[in-house]
Amino acid sequence: MQIESRHAGRCYGDRWAIRDISLVVPAREPLLLLGPSGGGKSTLLRLLAGLEIPQEGQILVDGKPLSPNESDLRIHRRRLGFVFQDGNLFPHLNAQENITLPLIRAHGFSRADALARAHTLLERFQLLTHSRNRPAELSGGQRQRIALARAMGHDPEILILDEPTSALDPEMTGEVIDALETIRNEGKTLVLATHATGFARHLGGQVAFLQDHRLTWTGPTQKFFEAPPTEGARAYLSRIQRE
Ligand code: ADP
Repeated sequence: MQIESRHAGRCYGDRWAIRDISLVVPAREPLLLLGPSGGGKSTLLRLLAGLEIPQEGQILVDGKPLSPNESDLRIHRRRLGFVFQDGNLFPHLNAQENITLPLIRAHGFSRADALARAHTLLERFQLLTHSRNRPAELSGGQRQRIALARAMGHDPEILILDEPTSALDPEMTGEVIDALETIRNEGKTLVLATHATGFARHLGGQVAFLQDHRLTWTGPTQKFFEAPPTEGARAYLSRIQRE
């Protein structure tokens, strides 16, 4: 599966959140969306994910324009996995049910198949002992690992993650980062907005740097960190590293 943004722009009211963004999500390697808050990272993720549609330009999936028709967008979204800042788990369901319910409701799994899949994922993310706990009974890191396990349920090729560690303290961030590395090593494509630059550098792949609603640089992650390519990137990194 390949997703591409071609001159995409999205505005809210009379203000552009992003403008003229062209990039191809590289297959099987992380794409890291970096840049100051308000620069447009979340908006770009929502467009790539088919959660919103651009008013300018296009999103292409496997070379074909993504139709703005709601049923086509739903099909596109079903092929992806999502993790947001706060995990968005269902508070009234336990960890296992949080994974099985979308598999049964949205992906047509039988109950037995959904349970088997949940078991595999809970085991992979070292969560089996928590499978009966509800989100309120778990730490932030455990909740985010469940959100990751849920996003992986239907085995998507591409995982879209919007600041998945920003609500966590450093120790729990480490747990989630380990889980993300496992996913990357399985050959999944991660599209990730993050301010966790140490982790981003370690993940490798490609960087897309967004600032002031524009894409100002794309290139290898290693290069971005070794020699920050723009004045904005240098200022951003020195600010983040001081925090
Ligand atoms: P980032 O993820 O880099 O912090 P966002 O994509 O969240 O940036 O925001 C980009 C710009 O679009 C900001 O100016 C923000 O205020 C605006 N914006 C984002 N989402 C909405 C929305 N739903 N309604 C109005 N303005 C929005």
